[in-house]
Order: sequence, then structure tokens, then C-alpha cells
Amino acid sequence: MALSEVGQAQLRLNAMAALELFIERRGGFATRDELVDFVLGGRRFGLIDRNRGIRNPQELDATLSVVSAADGPYADRIDPETGLLEYAFRAGDMTGGDNRKLRAALTARVPIIVFRKPSPNVYVPVFPAYVVGEDLIRGHVLIATDDALAQAYREGIRPIFEKSYVERVVAQRVHQPMFRAQVMSAYSTTCAICRLKHPELLDAAHIIADRDHNSVAHVSNGLALCKIHHAAYDQRFLGISPDYKVHVNARLLDEVDGPMLKHGIQDMHEVELTLPHREADWPSRDFLDERFAEFQA
Ligand SMILES: [Zn+2]
Repeated sequence: MALSEVGQAQLRLNAMAALELFIERRGGFATRDELVDFVLGGRRFGLIDRNRGIRNPQELDATLSVVSAADGPYADRIDPETGLLEYAFRAGDMTGGDNRKLRAALTARVPIIVFRKPSPNVYVPVFPAYVVGEDLIRGHVLIATDDALAQAYREGIRPIFEKSYVERVVAQRVHQPMFRAQVMSAYSTTCAICRLKHPELLDAAHIIADRDHNSVAHVSNGLALCKIHHAAYDQRFLGISPDYKVHVNARLLDEVDGPMLKHGIQDMHEVELTLPHREADWPSRDFLDERFAEFQA
């Protein structure tokens, strides 16, 4: 039974607030089981459906979430001109079944959650997102991943947007969270240098600056680093050689200071990098080499 309108709005917002906290503590992603068996206010309330790519809880008149493939032949496309995600209607009747509540999300203008799935069992939420249009001929809805884009699309002022603005929104809202999730998942949420495991203190660092804002940087251009080692790497206080070893700046090695310098930095000299389980996720030796040359310069 659907709740009252206010009850529905509350449930939707509570689910999103709880997800935000959960994702932050988890390092930017969740697994399928965690989302299917999500607990909200002491009871199980799945944020994704166990068997389908759309979650239409019986308490709600409109869709709560959709799972959108981020790669592979059936990937949902993000239009680079508009920044809108094209999410295919469920098979069958476009106006009935699961699609009915998806279209209700368009009419009611309620926020939904889009889960992007960059790799198996890595779910990255983008929310609040809004269904802002539909294309019944090509068989998809259009989803905005940002309030301003949603507003603009509804008011038909889309053409005034600079392409660079759309690119930036998609990079910030979709690509960067996906990069972080992939890096955190590959490194089991562990600093590659000191093995710190608190996601709140970890960053997904780029080895080579991200030049292409139209795509997600590959995990081989990433390193999971704690805040201090990320900053130290960026400031060239330490470097990482292509043989996966940490090198501390020679001048810094001679300095005498408190425990952070001694244990946090100097003790990391010649430490072996903690690498991802899967070799395919290891940092690229070419990228490390390019960056290491800058450190040595
Ligand atoms: Zn560290």
C-alpha cells in the first residue's frame, strides 16, 4: 500500500540521507547485498531490487532507484551535449508494468537514485537525480544527475549551457565518484603507502592529471592514498617509482621533527606499495614513470 504523499516524501528523503552516510563510510560505493538488504529505521528496506534493475517499492507511487550499466554493449549513454543519462525503459509495455512508476517519477518530479555499476558488484549512487523527459520512440527516459540541469531542461533553456559546464557537471557528479569507487574497491579501501583503512581519510589520487573529462579515468591511473600521503605525493615530498617503491625526498629524510614526519613520512622510505588484488587494477608503470620523473626533477 502506498503511503500518504508526505509519508512518501519522507521515506524517499530518509532513504537518501541514510544512503549518503552509508556510502561515505564505505568509501564511495556499496555492494549488491548491502543495497538489497539495506536497513532503514530498523527495518529492511532495499535500495535496489534483488532481481530487476529498477526499484519500485510498494510504499511509493514513483520509482526509487534504477541501476544503470556504465560499460559494456548495453551501457546507458550519457549525452555529452545535454549531460542527460538515457535510461532504457524496461522490456515490454513502455507505459505499464515497472515503467508506470518510472514515468510517475517524471510527472511528480521526485528525486530518484541512479546506481552506476562500473564493475561487477560495485554500485556507485548518483543522487538526487531526476527523470526529466522521455523518448517513447527510442524507448528511454532522460535523467538529469544535477538539480540545475534538471531545472534547465524542464524550462527548455538547455541550449544556453556552455558545453564546458555540462562536462564539469558530469565529471563531478558521475565520473569522479565512479573513479573513486573503482579505486577504493580495487585497493580494498587501504592506503597503498601506509595501509590506513579508514575511507573517510582516503582519497582516490590520480597518477597523471585527468585530461579527458568525457570519460572515467581508468583505475590504473589511480592510487588509494590517505590524505597525508596524497598531499605529500602531490607536493613531491615523496615519489613512487615504476617498480612500486616509495621514495622520500632526500632533504626531508635529513630533517628532524615530531612523530608525523618520522613515522608518517620518513619511515615510508623504500616501502613497497600495497597493490590491488587483481593485477589488471595495478597502477600503470608508464604513468608512474612519467610522474616519478617529475619527482626526481
Ligand atoms: Zn597513507
